[in-house]
Amino acid sequence: MTKTTEADTEGALEEVFGFSGFREHQGEIVEAVLAKRDVFAVMPTGGGKSLCYQLPARLMEGTCVVVSPLISLMKDQVDAARANGLKAAYVNSSQEAEERAAALRALYAGELELLYLAPERLAVGDFLESLGEAQVSFFAIDEAHCISEWGHDFRPDYLVLSNLVKVFPDVPVAAFTATATARVADDIREKLGLRDPFEVRASFNRPNLFYQVELKEKLNDQLYGFLRDREGQSGIIYRTTRKSVEETAAFLTRKGIKALPYHAGLEPEVRAANQEAFNRDEVPVVVATIAFGMGIDKPNVRFVVHGDLPKNMEGYYQETGRAGRDGDKSHCQLYFSRGDVAKMMYFIRDIEDARERETAERLLWEMVRFAEVHVCRRRKLLEYFGESYPEENCGACDVCTGDVETVDATRDAQIVMSAMLRTGQRFGAVHVIDVVTGADTARVRQFGHEEVKTYGAGADRPKKYWRYVIDNLLAQEALCQVGDPYPHLEVTGKGEGILRGGASFEVLRQKEAKGRARAASRGGGGGSKGEELDYDRGLFKELKALRKAIADEENVPPYVVFGDRALREMAAYLPETSGAFLEINGVGQTKLDRYGERFLGGIGKWEGGRSDGG
Ligand code: ADP
Ligand code: ZN
Repeated sequence: MTKTTEADTEGALEEVFGFSGFREHQGEIVEAVLAKRDVFAVMPTGGGKSLCYQLPARLMEGTCVVVSPLISLMKDQVDAARANGLKAAYVNSSQEAEERAAALRALYAGELELLYLAPERLAVGDFLESLGEAQVSFFAIDEAHCISEWGHDFRPDYLVLSNLVKVFPDVPVAAFTATATARVADDIREKLGLRDPFEVRASFNRPNLFYQVELKEKLNDQLYGFLRDREGQSGIIYRTTRKSVEETAAFLTRKGIKALPYHAGLEPEVRAANQEAFNRDEVPVVVATIAFGMGIDKPNVRFVVHGDLPKNMEGYYQETGRAGRDGDKSHCQLYFSRGDVAKMMYFIRDIEDARERETAERLLWEMVRFAEVHVCRRRKLLEYFGESYPEENCGACDVCTGDVETVDATRDAQIVMSAMLRTGQRFGAVHVIDVVTGADTARVRQFGHEEVKTYGAGADRPKKYWRYVIDNLLAQEALCQVGDPYPHLEVTGKGEGILRGGASFEVLRQKEAKGRARAASRGGGGGSKGEELDYDRGLFKELKALRKAIADEENVPPYVVFGDRALREMAAYLPETSGAFLEINGVGQTKLDRYGERFLGGIGKWEGGRSDGG
């Protein structure tokens, strides 16, 4: 059968993937690949990168070779491609020699549309050259930042890819990454030797994610409350240490919530088994250190919780980015406490290299400001990546939806700073708070600070509140911390403005729990129709069970069969015919052939059962 590059890409999009339209940039990328041009695409997680090479792979003569470092995901990726009817196989070190040989035989026989390849294979002997025996339509380099030593995920094996354009001067190369920094991007272009590539840099905005920050008080109780509202949803809870991961997982399990731990200290088999249980919808919650990341491709992660402060904005973005790849609304919750800042600073002080230490510190404070300052979270996050967000109100963060409010705290700030000035700006927060609250301590007596005019001026408020005021003054740079290892507080120029009454000072306050719950169940704003769909919850549950049964029979994760959105649409539109079933998002010809009968049967039985029951 001959293929033609003039084929109707939109038609293939519908027939193979069951999608009614391209996502942003997908169309142009597909077109460039079909025109045999090199491509360099920077797109966020969930942007839909795989379609950008899978669709041309169907339309072009020969085999698309996909290089990917994610060996543990390769089988799932190939299963997902096959479920859409694509002829796909993979070659990596995890498989038996026989299976590998079969994949290569299929490649050389010209039977494959897609071959997924681990980079360490390319580094073996003259494997790269031997690919010349096959007809390669183009190379797709996934996670292309792995070639850069500046990136967070450098893989030496990726350097072999520098030879691609020399060995295959006539074969186009399409590189994809979700890493945004300019330095890494330059490095990728150069190391791969891309030839006048068609470049795309997508927005890093993830419109379906809702961002929320709450003060961390009793984390366990907060987590329990959060999860109780989300029964049956998949999510990840990030914690900093192995110990806290274990503790949180054990707590949730005691409370009857199925949760598994994941961290580098677990036996590899246990780790793999826990990840697999999550991936296969057997356990909804994973409590993990940030070691849990690269290996997950699960599209229906409905929430990501940070139980501790992330190291920096980049980490926060990457980790929250694992939520909602399927485009459905998902929630990102951060529990923030100043105590965490002190803990992180403790580790940062141990960094030997001075420049590295300063960078780590600067990035941490940026993260703190994100959590504390009254500015749209989305805007702040995108600003960090050099992107300006055009909307006044994003509609999908706690600041924009008014789930936090600002209160004027100018007077309290003045009390604090006055106490600082009157005690000579020589003390840290603990002592300043003692003075403000009128505490009777040895230190207060030693320095005669009970004589200071502001002594006890804030006795009507708990110490915790004054700590919060000082933290906010620090975050808003009205105060600074000077001196190491015994830091004391000083008033900055900005602080003087507040003290003299020229400038005001505001802090954030979370609204009542009721308001928060509302925000949480509302999910993200814009971007997706998923949640607004009025669907039959009972049928949805039934279809999920059917999906799980089929997935188990076929030994694949449930999302390979159908995404959540497809099931919700089925439970809303109740298709009765093959034609109607094809209209569902994510149902292409192959999935109709494979699963149509069973799902249509399930829907019919449910409907019949309901009408029989009266
Ligand atoms: P990335 O690799 O960029 O993180 P994926 O390729 O895994 O993203 O795609 C993310 C999700 O979006 C998948 O569930 C995929 O089926 C879905 N998707 C991709 N393109 C489209 C589209 N044009 N319409 C609807 N859903 C899409
Ligand atoms: Zn916002």
